[in-house]
Amino acid sequence: MKQFKAESKRLLDLMINSIYTHREIFLREIISNASDAIDKLLFISLTDENVKMKKKDACIKISVDKDARTVTVSDNGIGMNEKELEENLGVIASSGTGKFRDEVSDGNDRKKKTGKNGPEELIGQFGVGFYSAFMVADKITVLTKKYGEEKAYRWESEGIEGYTVNECEKESVGTDVIMHIREDGDEPGEYSQYLDNYTLKNLVKKYSDYIRFPVKMEMPHSRKKEGSSDENPEYETVSELETLNSMVPIWQRRKSDVKEEEYSDFYTRTFHDMEKPQKTIALSVEGNVTYKALLFIPGKMPANYFTEDFEPGLQLYSAGVMIMDKCKDLLPECFNFVRGVVDSPDLSLNISRELLQHDRQLKLIRDKLEKKIKTELENMLKNEREEYEKFWKNFGRQIKACSINNYGMEKEKLQDLLLFYSSKEKKLITLSEYVDAMKENQKYIYYAAGETVESIDSMPQTEIIKENDMDILCFTDKVDEFVADMFRNYREKDFRSALNDDPELTKEKEGEEKPDAEVVYSDSIKYLKETLAGKVDEVKASKRLKTHPVCLSSGEDGLTFEMERYFKAVQPEMGMKAKRILEINTEHPAFKAFDAARIAEPEKAAKYAEIFYSQALLIAGFPLDNPTEYTDLITSLWV
Ligand code: ADP
Repeated sequence: MKQFKAESKRLLDLMINSIYTHREIFLREIISNASDAIDKLLFISLTDENVKMKKKDACIKISVDKDARTVTVSDNGIGMNEKELEENLGVIASSGTGKFRDEVSDGNDRKKKTGKNGPEELIGQFGVGFYSAFMVADKITVLTKKYGEEKAYRWESEGIEGYTVNECEKESVGTDVIMHIREDGDEPGEYSQYLDNYTLKNLVKKYSDYIRFPVKMEMPHSRKKEGSSDENPEYETVSELETLNSMVPIWQRRKSDVKEEEYSDFYTRTFHDMEKPQKTIALSVEGNVTYKALLFIPGKMPANYFTEDFEPGLQLYSAGVMIMDKCKDLLPECFNFVRGVVDSPDLSLNISRELLQHDRQLKLIRDKLEKKIKTELENMLKNEREEYEKFWKNFGRQIKACSINNYGMEKEKLQDLLLFYSSKEKKLITLSEYVDAMKENQKYIYYAAGETVESIDSMPQTEIIKENDMDILCFTDKVDEFVADMFRNYREKDFRSALNDDPELTKEKEGEEKPDAEVVYSDSIKYLKETLAGKVDEVKASKRLKTHPVCLSSGEDGLTFEMERYFKAVQPEMGMKAKRILEINTEHPAFKAFDAARIAEPEKAAKYAEIFYSQALLIAGFPLDNPTEYTDLITSLWV
């Protein structure tokens, strides 16, 4: 007897012992697996002439043996070999169930806190594949023979104790899952109901109607006995093999005929996401290429979205046969988070994995899907702002990053989908909203980059802009400054970093000119330059600082501090560094104190200079080379 992996044990335990109202989903799960297995074999048949099975032969059969208390689901799909049996049924490692496992622990916590969405509910929403059969069965036997292999195997388990795998006899390729139904407990029919043909038929209708291959079962029918008279008919019961499902996949149905819930169900099951999709887009196109598409915007960002593991793409079907699970060519990069299905009869079946010859068609589909997704997002932004902000939180970064692809070629297309945090409005706004709200005398779209909105908001450099009642876009994402850099302008308004000095704003009104601080305090400024040589590139009297004594800026052109940090993270060996300009508020009492000390107490003045510098660094978000030295310096002023 082989042991299940520890994690599978926990899940099994949950399955078997949960008092569970959605037990009936076990059938859906087993049928889905059968359907997937047929998909896999049909896929091979596209390129392998030896596969004799054609789509029309595909069949999933349910049989019931009331005496033996078994329900068997048989398929003529690809089957499993010994190794696959071990890997697939010995451990819960598959995509869907793996995720479920992660959420089960969350679910337990969640249930404690909120009283809802515990693991039981999650099973209902999501299904957990093969293992769910243990909710109704106390023993499961799997007989399977893989396509192209000689030997067949029998996998058997009575649950938690483990499982056995042995060679066995099986004529045809495919898999039989034999579920031995539990004895009823206190409730009559609790489990026995699953041995009833009508119950099973209804379950297929309810959960598996869309399955594209026929699900068949021998159904009892009442028939007039041959030879019995019409006036006085006698009836007998005969069995007939009946197809239980309509086989119309959900994307082939009219949108108005499909309930939102059915779409969500299909999404969560097909794409193994616990969360409902945020938006469902159904599309039926006739023309140069004819196809149906069903697209989903996920309700949350996949955990691996920004990693190499993430595989974008849509499922591609041709006349009901899946030819690709993740067809990348159907989605533009900016919308690569979209999940869904495209089904087109125009892509011939023998195209195999080489889709090259269909380039043109795929591109036509892709362009159309891109337009459609964009329009949907624009509408969401216009009409369901909150929803859009949720979407933006999930995938906004992807759209921003792509808006600067190809040297700005994508700008026009994506610029109106972007949101940035407004320092004035304290919420996310579009560029268009920013420009609409610009002051008459405002020339630029101001932005400031920093770690957090709070830190940006309190930057001394931004004071003057705020004093002029102008808004600042807070750039907290690494990519944001690159967006401003690549766009250069929006609706003819140039982007401008609020951290740079803006002569427009600091221009003195006529008649109010003050003596030039650079001249008045030239000695002090020269002193600072010399004392801080090697640390700062320049020292200047600031016209924009109001209440703060110092700040650090990087000058008009070249690298900004945020860019420096970015490059330091991705290409540290380049040693890219922004210019460091120490701006000093000559009106500030701290400066006055320094100015006086320079003559009277030179030792103190040197300390003040260091402190100015360190403070400017801190405000700009840079770490100090030696924090201890800095704190010692400060304390030395009063001891
Ligand atoms: P999931 O379907 O989410 O991957 P399951 O636990 O339902 O998880 O199944 C695990 C794996 O076992 C499947 O991915 C598949 O490889 C294999 N499997 C299950 N049922 C069948 C079947 N009827 N025919 C072939 N392979 C199957």
